[in-house]
Amino acid sequence: MSSESTTSNRQDATETTDNEPETAVEIARRQLEHAVGHVDIDPNVIERLKHPTKVQEVTVPIERDDGTVEVFTGYRAHHDSVRGPHKGGLRFHPEVTRDECVGLSMWMTWKCAVMDLPFGGAKGGIAVNPKELSSDEKERLTRRFTEEIRGVIGPMKDIPAPDMGTDQQTMAWLMDAYSMQEGETIPGVVTGKPPVIGGSKGREEAPGRSVAIITREALEYYDQPMAEATIAMQGFGSVAANAARLLEDWGATIVAVSDVNGAIYDPSGLETHDIPTHNEQPEAVTEQDVPHVLTNDELLELDVDVLVPAAVGNVLTEDNASDVSADLIVEGANGPTTSAGGEILADRGIPVIPDILANAGGVTVSYFEWLQDINRRAWSLERVNDELESEMVDAWTDVCEAHDAHDVTWRDAAYIVALLRIAEAHEARGLWP
Ligand code: GLU
Repeated sequence: MSSESTTSNRQDATETTDNEPETAVEIARRQLEHAVGHVDIDPNVIERLKHPTKVQEVTVPIERDDGTVEVFTGYRAHHDSVRGPHKGGLRFHPEVTRDECVGLSMWMTWKCAVMDLPFGGAKGGIAVNPKELSSDEKERLTRRFTEEIRGVIGPMKDIPAPDMGTDQQTMAWLMDAYSMQEGETIPGVVTGKPPVIGGSKGREEAPGRSVAIITREALEYYDQPMAEATIAMQGFGSVAANAARLLEDWGATIVAVSDVNGAIYDPSGLETHDIPTHNEQPEAVTEQDVPHVLTNDELLELDVDVLVPAAVGNVLTEDNASDVSADLIVEGANGPTTSAGGEILADRGIPVIPDILANAGGVTVSYFEWLQDINRRAWSLERVNDELESEMVDAWTDVCEAHDAHDVTWRDAAYIVALLRIAEAHEARGLWP
């Protein structure tokens, strides 16, 4: 079972004007401010949306295998729930902070609204390096964290899912810990579980599948035939590998993929099905027998039709955005483009299809999983993939309309679609009390 390795928001490769790293919440707020300039929405609603509704901070003590006790810090941030229960991933990563969870929870609100899912945004995590924990320690950590956040999660309140450093097994422990205390089996409290306990078929592949679908639609929009398209993919975790393999199957030439040690490049095209993913064999990409080995930085500057950053956050920055040679960027990771990097790319006329649309297949199939759990009835893989295809194309069409009508960037267009839906719901419900 693999962890969702696309959703990091590493904060060591970005910039702000005062040289402090730009945090996820800062990027999210700047993007919001930028988008609202193009659309007529009650400023009071926007003011509300700049802030999370709640951030739960907890300490999580566990007994290590050697008998010592170690205490970790965990968070669960709720951003907005006007359209339905909070929804979003749970990550185990040493750089997890409160601000990162808040920023990522804002992106989940927009992502769910762009997809027109009846969910709001959440994100959580524990500041821990999961590679340094045994499986038993991870289980104890997950169960104790579940206990600490029990009051704020639930199938109608907030539904966690896998994210960076967590996987199907983590979700199974979370579901079990929650269910045991409630006295009944409650599969709908998490998504991304193993199918044997109510997980959905196709959930693990879904973020990569949506990246491939949106790349296909974007190529068509720009009159670029798939069969002639060259694509560089940063990463080879679940999202990048699934996207690369599908796009290769659909006729594209995947010229580069990477792992943390570097990138491999073959202008005549890589056989992506033969390269082990990060989850199958960590850090195996650069061990492949191919013509060129590049650095990750060089991959980002390759002269290709499409660049898909699908590894970590904050990789397209003011330091390298001027050197990007791709004609189109599709964001597979969450937050791969910093504010300054995004401005440079916009000035250069390089379209960037945003994460909140491109990788939204994960939360969309999470929604299908939640429906299956509520109804206690599993869907076939074919049904999951057919419904995902149609949800992605509908969302693409909505974003396309906003893009063309307002003459804005793709990110602003996705924000416009999301914000109009959220604002309408806020206006209908009003402010309580
Ligand atoms: N962690 C994934 C994301 O960032 C999925 C969240 C979910 O399925 O709730 O979109």
